Amino acid sequence: MNDRAAAARPLKVELREVGLRYFGREGETEALAGISLGVAEGEFVSIIGQSGCGKSTLLSLVAGIMAPTSGAILLDGRPVRGPDRRVGYMLQQDYLFEWRTILENTLLGAQIQGVEPRAARDRAVMLLSRYGLGKFMDHLPRQLSGGMRQRVALARTLCTDPDVVLLDEPFSALDSQTRIAIADEIADILRREGKTAILVTHDIAEAIGMADRVIVLSRRPGRVRSSHLIEFASAGAARPSPMQARNAIEFNGYFNRLWQELEVHVEG
Ligand code: ADP
Ligand code: MG
Repeated sequence: MNDRAAAARPLKVELREVGLRYFGREGETEALAGISLGVAEGEFVSIIGQSGCGKSTLLSLVAGIMAPTSGAILLDGRPVRGPDRRVGYMLQQDYLFEWRTILENTLLGAQIQGVEPRAARDRAVMLLSRYGLGKFMDHLPRQLSGGMRQRVALARTLCTDPDVVLLDEPFSALDSQTRIAIADEIADILRREGKTAILVTHDIAEAIGMADRVIVLSRRPGRVRSSHLIEFASAGAARPSPMQARNAIEFNGYFNRLWQELEVHVEG
């Protein structure tokens, strides 16, 4: 999606001057400060920033798991007041329950949200089949590879049919080859289903490959440092997959710019 197309679509998620402080026994931690950003319907945004800059905190706020200390978070133009069915959350670890079958794991979110059981089951079976897991529905998680488990986690997230999917470093437990392949699959699925997606990662290549736009957060307290539109004009009309993006001529330019923005320093 280009800038104009994004601008023409209504904002699905909006953060206005959002700040978050944690209050703990060791005192106060300012995790986020003055974050303002909008994500258009159907847009795929990656957020990158160093460890501890508040990325997971930001997603928890959008998910309604925590409330901001200051500012406002809007979903479809209305303030977020708590967890919402329109938002699905996919985490770093797949959090599959080892004693539940793949189908039962996929149904978990739908059961918690009280989706009618038959409809939920039909949708879970449809998603698992579509993601190549049809034969594994009665298996236990430990019988599956890391990449397959991550696809189950995605099926579980999508089983409740959220409009917005939040992904918190969802591939970091995978080896690098599986990681690229799964990122490809998941980006493709989310785009085809027209989801609005916010991916948090510290992997610059992954951020570029998957997103329409990459937002760089500063060190803690996280602020929006810069925003970069990602376009691959050389690849023609269709957006390249994350894997193809790595070979596009524009890729290195984006990578170098984001690398500098991230202020990566080796301590020592
Ligand atoms: P990231 O995901 O970018 O690594 P986090 O959002 O997890 O960063 O954390 C941002 C900052 O807030 C870090 O300094 C972290 O130590 C701190 N933090 C996170 N959760 C809590 C908490 N529950 N209580 C106190 N401090 C926290
Ligand atoms: Mg995190």
